[in-house]
Amino acid sequence: MKKKVVKFGGSSLASAEQFRKVGEIIRSDESRRYVVPSAPGKRFSADTKVTDMLYGCYHLAEAGKDFSGALENIRARYMEIIEGLSLDLSLNEQFEEIAENFRSKAGEDYAASRGEYLNGIVMAAYLGFEFVDAAEVVCFNADGSFNADKTDEVMSRRLADLGCAVIPGFYGAKPDGTVKTFSRGGSDITGSLVAKAVHADLYENWTDVSGFLVTDPRVVKDPATISTITYREMRELSYMGATVLHEDSIFPLRKEGIPINVRNTNRPEDPGTMIVESTCNKPRYTITGIGGKKGFASITIEKAMMNSEIGFVRKVLQVFEENGLSIEHTPSGIDTLTVYVNQNAFEAKEQQIIAGLHRAVQPDLIELESDLALIAVVGRGMRRTRGTAGRIFSALAHAHVNVKMIDQGSSELNIIIGVENRDFETAIQAIYNIFVVAQL
Ligand code: ADP
Ligand code: ASP
Ligand code: MG
Repeated sequence: MKKKVVKFGGSSLASAEQFRKVGEIIRSDESRRYVVPSAPGKRFSADTKVTDMLYGCYHLAEAGKDFSGALENIRARYMEIIEGLSLDLSLNEQFEEIAENFRSKAGEDYAASRGEYLNGIVMAAYLGFEFVDAAEVVCFNADGSFNADKTDEVMSRRLADLGCAVIPGFYGAKPDGTVKTFSRGGSDITGSLVAKAVHADLYENWTDVSGFLVTDPRVVKDPATISTITYREMRELSYMGATVLHEDSIFPLRKEGIPINVRNTNRPEDPGTMIVESTCNKPRYTITGIGGKKGFASITIEKAMMNSEIGFVRKVLQVFEENGLSIEHTPSGIDTLTVYVNQNAFEAKEQQIIAGLHRAVQPDLIELESDLALIAVVGRGMRRTRGTAGRIFSALAHAHVNVKMIDQGSSELNIIIGVENRDFETAIQAIYNIFVVAQL
């Protein structure tokens, strides 16, 4: 029999009503045997995710303040689900233990992970599946890095004899048992780990949109759905803000070639998006998708003849490294090199970095610019098509967007464009219009 791993995101599990939809989806296909739930998310747009409630509650505990009210509000979210589903389940013991561990300051990761942990217990009771605590099967090293090999070994062994199981997303544990989480949105990664461990035929990732969309639905109204996208394209887009899937969620699957199907819990009849290793399927448009992020600063270093100075780029990058800043992009000219970094991180270290650059490479000029956004136009079809960059430029010129930077990735899979933060939405809409709306 086929095996499918199904991961449900926060909004798919925000209430008893949503749980019922999820139950129906799982029961309608008996190959859906391994379930990875997130913590309950938002029920309406002004609502708070349980994960964020837990962070807030723990911060009170850490500051030695009374956190009982905040913990009661979290308990209420679960009780609403349990009562709405008429489950015979009490979480009293778990909440007592959580309160105790909050008092003894068990850590922020422990706190955040309880959202998934508790939802996993509820889900297992609702489905009649076995509950497997992720702390036993998702392994981190003592230094906090993820241990992929050990996880695969331990998880395969544990799940081998279980016909059906619920494994909560987002967290695991270090060898000493301390809980550690992935970065935000990390339940997507857990789903991939489970899919690899059980050699699943398919990893279904159920969310609140009908697949990977050409661009962010919060920027462009009702964007088209991408029917098939490759792992690499997806990674470029999710790194650049398409949060529908965590950018690291393909790593466990890459070697196995297990496809991911992004689906909508609220519209299970929609086919969603297939994310695959490689495909002959031609994309419908020249581009596959448009991603983007705001909040960058650029540092332009000018020095005559810098191209002939051996080690120049290394010395510049070393200054950023020594200050613990990661670099997004480094477009260059003959006498200039520009470094794009996260603005908040840069602002905290600004003067140290400028002084460091002066010491390291004695530049003629250093110029700073802030409030910049980066937009990534991604697509396997761009390699074969001439004039893509030209079309992007003309679309942006027509929309009166000033382009600060353009950089074609060495993979030819993406073109990165720098614009001012305030032009971000206009720019994405203009690129969408030229490649998608004009082709419809
Ligand atoms: P979940 O809680 O199910 O994990 P997320 O909130 O993490 O869901 O991701 C789904 C959201 O991602 C969508 O509601 C949408 O607002 C946002 N999003 C951003 N870019 C895209 C995109 N290109 N395609 C689809 N959704 C996107
Ligand atoms: N609940 C976690 C978060 O809000 C993990 C996830 O949803 O994937 O980030
Ligand atoms: Mg998510």
